[in-house]
Parts: sequence; structure tokens; C-alpha cells
Amino acid sequence: MKAILVREFGGPEVLRLEEVPTPKPAAGQVLVRIHAAGVNPYDTYMRAGTYAQKPTLPYTPGSDGAGVVESVGEGVKKVKQGDRVYTTTTLSGAYAEYTLALERQVHPLPAKIGFSQGAGVWVPYGTAYHALYHSAKAHASESVLVHGASGGVGSAAIQIARSMGLTILGTAGTPAGLEIAKREGAHQVFDHRKAGYQEEILKATGDRGVDIILEMLANVNLAHDTKLLAKDGRVIVIGNRGEVTINARELMARRASIQGFTLWGITSAEEADIHAGLIAGLENGTLRPIVGKELPLAEAARAHREILVPGAAGKIILIC
Ligand code: NAP
Repeated sequence: MKAILVREFGGPEVLRLEEVPTPKPAAGQVLVRIHAAGVNPYDTYMRAGTYAQKPTLPYTPGSDGAGVVESVGEGVKKVKQGDRVYTTTTLSGAYAEYTLALERQVHPLPAKIGFSQGAGVWVPYGTAYHALYHSAKAHASESVLVHGASGGVGSAAIQIARSMGLTILGTAGTPAGLEIAKREGAHQVFDHRKAGYQEEILKATGDRGVDIILEMLANVNLAHDTKLLAKDGRVIVIGNRGEVTINARELMARRASIQGFTLWGITSAEEADIHAGLIAGLENGTLRPIVGKELPLAEAARAHREILVPGAAGKIILIC
């Protein structure tokens, strides 16, 4: 089969398409014919060797795949040959024609969701769901600022927050991104490249502030976020690419909190909750993964370059 292999950590050029043996599922494992693989920012940090998790070299990147079960190992009961599935991490990597996964790493993909959309489910929607329900413990009567609403996590967060009944403010840095945020359900949108946009956000809340901020770029925004919070407000730090200084007094005055977030820290009960919620939302049409760009598997390096360029518009997907 064809797969992307990383033989050394480095720039996007270390992603090379190679011919490798197709894996065989052992007991408790599932072999999936991957049709589409989602590209996430953390795939680039991992490839560069700067991520908290360093895979053993050589490795095939990718946790988010969608495809059809090719075969199953002994004892597998959850899925059978021919089932459409999405993956939530794999044993052998999703940037490939076939991937090996544990039975618990594959989940049914509703019929109305295409493979490219299915490859945009786990990290973006799992993150948004976990952040809103479990970290922020959001209530329908609250407001949320999705700070970075045009990308994978942000667009998912808008759809989920809308289905929960929250009042949503979203930001993006381009007209196309602002359009996505609005179309997917944000009540008001703001351009995070425009000077003074934070004052516009505060004004839009009648100077009360927002209850929840889902933050995609904390090193740039956290100091200001603390001033945009309502009483008992909370910032959930999802994305961060550097250091930041804050004035803790802004938190004290509001009894506010800043919460670090990682999708990798979920419990199995939380994971079960997340998949039940996501699959229901995908089935009933409230969750609609946005495919921004589809590239052939051989162009994984280009995908890794483009995902870090500002101007997000949904997901970048590799067609395998
Ligand atoms: P993505 O699809 O590349 O989107 C990036 C988002 O960040 C876009 O909406 C972009 O908006 C926005 N952004 C750029 N500059 C910004 C600014 N100054 N203020 C606010 N937002 C800004 O990435 P993603 O998949 O949504 O992930 C977002 C971040 O969360 C990444 O850093 C990722 O590594 C992280 N993440 C963390 C976890 C975790 O477990 N902690 C899980 C998933 C993702 P424009 O392009 O429109 O400017």
C-alpha cells in the first residue's frame, strides 16, 4: 500500500510517499481502507519533533481517518467488513491507504457524512465537544466567544454551541472565515486582525463580557481575553504557540478562571459521551464538518505548509 512515512523529524519535506506492506489485523484490531485523512495542526508539531508526544521513527502521521472496514481480527464485535467508520487515533497512522486500529479506535460514520467530512470529525469535533460540555460546562443561557472560528475546531465549536442553545460570538481573520463563522451559526462575528476588535466584542455584550472563551491562540490573546470575561467567566485554552503575560487581577475581579485543555487527557466515560453526542449530531444534521480543501495523499507536505498559514476555511483533507 502507499503511505506517508516520516523517517526523521523536520520540515514538511520529510513527509514522503512510500510503498509499504499492508498491515494485517491481529486479535482485537481492525484494518480500515482509508479514503480520507484529516490534517490537524498537531500533526505538524509532531512531524517537527516539537510535540509532547514523540513517535518512534519511522512513523506514518494522522489520527483522523475515514473509510471502510477491510477486515477484522479475532474477537472484534463492534464493526465488520464493509462498515463505514471514522478513526480516533490509529496504530499505524491515517495518512495511508490502509490503517490498523484498535476496536475502540473506530466508530460508525453516519451514511449522510462523506469520507472527507468523516476525516474532519475526531480532533476538531472531539475537542469542541469536550471543551464546551466537559471543560466549560456550558449552559444554554450563556455566551461563548469562539476565538478562531474559521478553522477545524472553531467551526465545530460554533455548530455544537448552537445546538446547545448558547449565544455565540466568533472571530476570523479573513472575509471567507467570517462568512463561515456566520453561516455555521455565530450570532455576531469579528475580525481578529482588525485593531480594537476586542472593544467591539465587549460592546456587543453590553459591556457585560462573555461567559466562555474557547481560545485557539492563547499566546496572542490571553491577556486581552481576561478583560472580555463576565463574572465567573472561563477561558478554555485550546491552542497556544508561545508565551504570554497576563494580569491576574483581571481574573480576581471577575472570579474568572483559565483552564488548560488537552483532548488526550479524556477519560473513557468522557470519550463515550463525546462519540454518542457527535454521532447523534452528525446523524441529525446539526454537525456538518466543513471540508475546505482536498489534496492527494502525495501532497501531504503541501497540506502541512498550508495548515499553518492564516486564512483558515474549514479542514484540509488528504484523499488516500
Ligand atoms: P486550524 O483549522 O488551522 O484553524 C486555526 C484557527 O486559528 C483559525 O480559525 C484562525 O483564524 C485562528 N486564528 C489565527 N490567528 C488568530 C488570532 N490572532 N486570534 C484568534 N484566532 C486566530 O486549526 P484547528 O484545528 O482549528 O486548531 C486550532 C488550534 O487549537 C491549533 O493551535 C491546534 O494545535 C489547537 N488544538 C489543540 C487541541 C488540544 O487538545 N489542546 C486539540 C485540537 C486543536 P484565521 O485563519 O481566520 O485568521
